[in-house]
Amino acid sequence: MSTIPTATVSRLVTYLRILGTLDEQGVTRTSSEHLAREAHVSAFQVRKDLAYFGRFGTRGAGYVVATLHDELMRILGLTRPWNVAIVGMGRLGEALADYPNLERYDFQLRAAFDVDRDKVGRTVGKLVVRHMSELPRVARDERLDIGLLTVPSDAAQDAADALGRAGVHGILNFAPTVIDPPDGTHVEPVDFLAGLKRVSFYIQQPPSRKQTA
Ligand code: NAD
Repeated sequence: MSTIPTATVSRLVTYLRILGTLDEQGVTRTSSEHLAREAHVSAFQVRKDLAYFGRFGTRGAGYVVATLHDELMRILGLTRPWNVAIVGMGRLGEALADYPNLERYDFQLRAAFDVDRDKVGRTVGKLVVRHMSELPRVARDERLDIGLLTVPSDAAQDAADALGRAGVHGILNFAPTVIDPPDGTHVEPVDFLAGLKRVSFYIQQPPSRKQTA
């Protein structure tokens, strides 16, 4: 698994979204060319990404949308529920607790944590905010798999380490800082400001220069 490039995993998520849309539209077959156009990559790239996981589709006939969708769900580990906790119930943590699409892919929101005594005990959505000291017990009882880390940057490493010690092996880190993954965990950064800086880079040139580039 470790030989699969991160970019391939990202593109599989994109292909899954495209296949989901095709399925909703009642389209039953598709091709690497169509997936490539929608994902803004080459058809060769689509075939190469899928080839890491076996042979899908038939030469000339393309892919059955529902079958490839199910295969990608299996490859991405989305055919089982994942128990999710939010660590840091400030502005972002509260917004994520209200986000309705989490459970669409069976990400089950099970717990919320904070260190602020004023927040502990409050109900947010369907969760009661608990103190971080309860993390080991709750992680065991609720079989937590994934932590959404929404604490300030200077608290992120300690909170990630606490998640790792509690046996929570997946962390989605919203804090704009690099975290050393605790042993046996995978940390995925979601850096909103870095995204804005990339947007700034791409739109800074006046349109006339972009056309000649
Ligand atoms: P916030 O200050 O509103 O909330 C942070 C929460 O984390 C607080 O409730 C605080 O008590 C709690 N906390 C602090 N240390 C903790 C610890 N060790 N364990 C558990 N909880 C702890 O901040 P926010 O705006 O929600 O942002 C949270 C993180 O997400 C920050 O790193 C921020 O840079 C990042 N972020 C925020 C936004 C946004 O729109 N608010 C967007 C992108 C990224």
